[in-house]
Amino acid sequence: MLATANAPVPLYDLTRAELLGLFGRWGFAPVHGERLWNYLYLQLAGAFSADALPELPAKVRTRLAAEATLGVLPTALETDSSDGFTRKYLLALADRARIETVLMRFTGRVTACLSTQVGCAMGCVFCATGQMGYTRHLTAGEIVAQAVHVARALRQGGGGRGDEIYPPLAAPKATRAGLLTSAATPRLRNIVLMGMGEPLHNYDAVMHAIDILRDPNGLALGAERITLSTVGVVPGILRLAREKRPLHLAVSLHAATQEERAALVPVAKKWPLDELMAACRTYSETTGRRIFYEWTLIDGKNDSPDHARAVGRLLRGLPAQVNLIPLNPTTGYEGAPTHSAAARQFQHILAQEFSLPSTVRQRRGIDIAAGCGQLAVVEPRRA
Ligand code: SAH
Ligand code: SF4
Repeated sequence: MLATANAPVPLYDLTRAELLGLFGRWGFAPVHGERLWNYLYLQLAGAFSADALPELPAKVRTRLAAEATLGVLPTALETDSSDGFTRKYLLALADRARIETVLMRFTGRVTACLSTQVGCAMGCVFCATGQMGYTRHLTAGEIVAQAVHVARALRQGGGGRGDEIYPPLAAPKATRAGLLTSAATPRLRNIVLMGMGEPLHNYDAVMHAIDILRDPNGLALGAERITLSTVGVVPGILRLAREKRPLHLAVSLHAATQEERAALVPVAKKWPLDELMAACRTYSETTGRRIFYEWTLIDGKNDSPDHARAVGRLLRGLPAQVNLIPLNPTTGYEGAPTHSAAARQFQHILAQEFSLPSTVRQRRGIDIAAGCGQLAVVEPRRA
């Protein structure tokens, strides 16, 4: 998204081509734009001042200082889970709104869970973000800046206290590959758009952000390592299919009948289950891609053998994998997570009777409310 007439241009909003185009309009050589791009995505710049970019001519730095902003999101709070693998960042936006971003370390990979909105309009009953309501969409730059934040924290050894103000990083001595992939520095390789918000409600900004995140001269995130989870926004799924966007699609199902689904996911009234499944079929037929169907397992609600058979029948003939997510606690919903024996039985039925692969999501960061559906803005406690 480009800024309006006099507002400063948020640099993380721009693709590389847009940044070079801006430099062209300003009458500057492309090499200066390329340097700035490297500063943003290879040095993972945390601050922006004329001094941080001494290699740029003074007139370029002056114009940037006057007409552009970096769009770094300062950390308001950072919490580590006792599981030792999960860190949650409360990040401050320019208008003082707050969002949460989660860094998860799994064996051999690091994943950032990014937010796409401040709050969410979809109102799923068991979700803390839904319970806080909708404030606004995030811009592409605010989505990109979350990934940069996590990548920078990894570079700095996982982040740490006192990183509210990032000093300008020294110019990298290593090559680009060495800088980002050395064994000592785990590189951010996976993105899940599963934080606060409904990504397909904010389609344009999300796709623009993905284009920036994928740039091979920047963070270079592979399309196969980006997963977008939707509550089931039918027009958005059909648009993804039309545009053949290379990403993994996850659809939050939770129930296999319209009535049960509408009780958990109010937007099912707007986009009923039969329309959702038709859109999923179109998506898989058009793109040749399998869809991940997410199923939050709630004790006594949607975790019985009959429920497993109903989802098996619903997904019959579709390229699908089921991701089972034992319910995470939120203050606004009284349900309890499924017992592990019931989850195993659910999986067993899907596999044996329907040849449907499934996984049970590892529970991570529950103690710091960083699990699926637990993200809501909690202000730091004042001393
Ligand atoms: N809005 C998108 C993506 C964010 S939610 C969506 O709904 O798909 C990410 C996932 O967390 C979704 O599958 C959602 O259904 C699930 N979820 C929400 N609240 C949860 C909770 N309390 N416990 C477990 N999973 C939850
Ligand atoms: Fe929004 Fe997803 Fe939460 Fe539903 S589960 S309220 S769509 S963030």
